[in-house]
Amino acid sequence: MPEVHDVVIIGSGPAGLTAAIYASRANLEPLVLEGEPSSTSDQPGGQLMLTTDVENFPGFPSGVMGPDLMASFKEQAQRFGAKIETVKASKVDFSERPFKIWVGNAEEAEPTYLAQSVIVSTGAQSVMLGLDREMELIGHGVSTCATCDGFFFRDKPIAVIGGGDSALEEATFLTKFASSVTIIHRRDELRASKIMQDRAMANDKITFMWDTEVTEIIGDQALEKLKLVNNKTNEASELEVSGLFIAIGHRPNTDIFKGQLDMKDNGYLITDSPSSRTSVTGVFACGDVQDDIYRQAITAAGSGCTAAIDAERWLEAEVHS
Ligand code: NAP
Repeated sequence: MPEVHDVVIIGSGPAGLTAAIYASRANLEPLVLEGEPSSTSDQPGGQLMLTTDVENFPGFPSGVMGPDLMASFKEQAQRFGAKIETVKASKVDFSERPFKIWVGNAEEAEPTYLAQSVIVSTGAQSVMLGLDREMELIGHGVSTCATCDGFFFRDKPIAVIGGGDSALEEATFLTKFASSVTIIHRRDELRASKIMQDRAMANDKITFMWDTEVTEIIGDQALEKLKLVNNKTNEASELEVSGLFIAIGHRPNTDIFKGQLDMKDNGYLITDSPSSRTSVTGVFACGDVQDDIYRQAITAAGSGCTAAIDAERWLEAEVHS
């Protein structure tokens, strides 16, 4: 059987690596399973690996590049003894302690790792349109976070995709910066709450394009324009924009925890807030995997600190006493 680790951290975004910094400074020698690069949108380090300038992370008055910030998190965790493996958990068994974690072939009888406690920080992903150039132009006009990137589009025309609360909230927020905001929605009816609809419709800077889908994202170094089609009339058109905000939902990375940890209907893990305790004693969750509201790097980092302290106290009381 493999050795039993005190703490295994699954996921290496701001939440997981902050948990690793705190757990390693508590001499718990955490093992971080940072994930494996499987596509452009799925990189160890989480969603900041897909961004360019991060201007809202405290401590960087001139901003910092997302990947550089995550490299600093990682270096800081390793400095205090965190071990980082570039592997992706494929299965977990939290039914008894020590908890079992597999990587690679989930059919293997033997788990790859054993742990007294686990911190889950596998994050979430923005749902994307699935168009060519979409991922390459992230940070160069295409964005999934108005709070993060709106500031870069001062006096520029912007499009927002989606018809839910996120799209309308982002569009309304973006009018603080943009010269115009076009909400492109695939139907002629919004899913968003009435109050969000009223607010967006009353905003002079916002216009709606109904029954419309993006067919192509055009831009070489940066986004230049969108090719569109009206799905009722088949009429094609183009829209010149500097920014494209995709707000068609988020998906938490919780597939391997189904049947193991309690989740909300939308798949986000349930924690016993303000603690990071999950439905299984000894398993803690932090970051976007349990946050469908704030979704910021700094809130994820804060919750990673909480999870490490919760795990440390729990190990002290239940395992090392
Ligand atoms: P959502 O409610 O699921 O809405 C997603 C929108 O994106 C829908 O309008 C959907 O169109 C559209 N869409 C989905 N896939 C698409 C595709 N491939 N191409 C084009 N359009 C696509 O997601 P959300 O807006 O992120 O909200 C998620 C939850 O958080 C909701 O419960 C929402 O109420 C809540 N939320 C609340 C607030 C707030 O209260 N302040 C703010 C944000 C979010 P269809 O309508 O045609 O399906």
